[in-house]
Amino acid sequence: MDASPYDRIVAAKAALGGDLAILAHHYQGDDVYRHADFAGDSLELSSRIEGLDASSIVFCGVTFMAETAAVLAKPGQNVFIPDPKAGCVLSDMAPAPLVAAVIKRLRAGGRRVIPLTYVNSQAEVKAVCGRYGGSVCTSANARIMVAWALAQGEGVLFLPDQNLARNTCDALGVPAGRRQVLDVFSRGRTIDTARLAGKDVMIWPGQCVIHSRIKPAAIAAFRAEHPGALVVVHPECSPEVVAAADSCGSTSHIIGYCEAAPAGRTVAVGTEINMVARLAKKYAGVKTIVPLMGRGCSNMAKITEEKLARQLDDLDRETPVAVGPDVREPARLALTRMLNACRAAGLR
Ligand code: SF4
Repeated sequence: MDASPYDRIVAAKAALGGDLAILAHHYQGDDVYRHADFAGDSLELSSRIEGLDASSIVFCGVTFMAETAAVLAKPGQNVFIPDPKAGCVLSDMAPAPLVAAVIKRLRAGGRRVIPLTYVNSQAEVKAVCGRYGGSVCTSANARIMVAWALAQGEGVLFLPDQNLARNTCDALGVPAGRRQVLDVFSRGRTIDTARLAGKDVMIWPGQCVIHSRIKPAAIAAFRAEHPGALVVVHPECSPEVVAAADSCGSTSHIIGYCEAAPAGRTVAVGTEINMVARLAKKYAGVKTIVPLMGRGCSNMAKITEEKLARQLDDLDRETPVAVGPDVREPARLALTRMLNACRAAGLR
């Protein structure tokens, strides 16, 4: 009888030993997640890369995450993803040529606008940010990085997630009148730079198709049914959803929030379903963790245990994630600025 995907992965890990590291994002399903040497949110996983000695890194997540790992990997290290078609709709909303055109437009009058991209973006976009003195942020460090970017120049272009931008501005106290969601779909030609003179944060109009489906009405209905229950959401949700919740933060923040919730309480979680289901299982019988919505990310779901097993069956024949030096160097610069700013602020 053929070996199961589980057994093939266990055998490959045993054979490759320290030459292999498997990283998995919190949104992966249990059958993949259980094989991870390191699991975490985007910031935790990015921070891990520099300390890894394995010659092969298999990234169980979506392509922008594997590209980030490839950018940060040491010479001689190869990064693989079990399905290169596992993209991210949010990252695709900001193609690099359009980002470059918009930055040029914003800077046309000599204003030193600093681009700051959410890690959910293509490597080419991170490279554009690196070239223009900008950086990268994750949902765990967005406040630190927006404050950093504001201190570097004369305004910030935040991309591609408008909800994370608006929530971070709210948290930092950037008034609504000093930020502006941009119309980018004419390659920036309709952007009136004179009208943006008083705007500190200019916001790309992208959003996550999963988190933007969560509505305040879902929280109201949940609270009506579960008086005294708690609600925690991801900052890719709209500001209206964040305002209706008790807490908001990255996947790691959400995990910590559920951990800290008192025994016997019910917590509704507004993020991708795989992670919520894992938390519900972990705390079953102690506290009740329920999803605010039942949707998973279809791209995260493209990484399956079978695909991971197939890749590990013969890793030498697999094609690693390729990021050319013209993109890798400026993207690495942008990411390094983020990691250094976070370390300076005491964040991992
Ligand atoms: S959950 Fe949203 S932001 Fe995350 S990978 Fe899926 S589409 Fe992209």
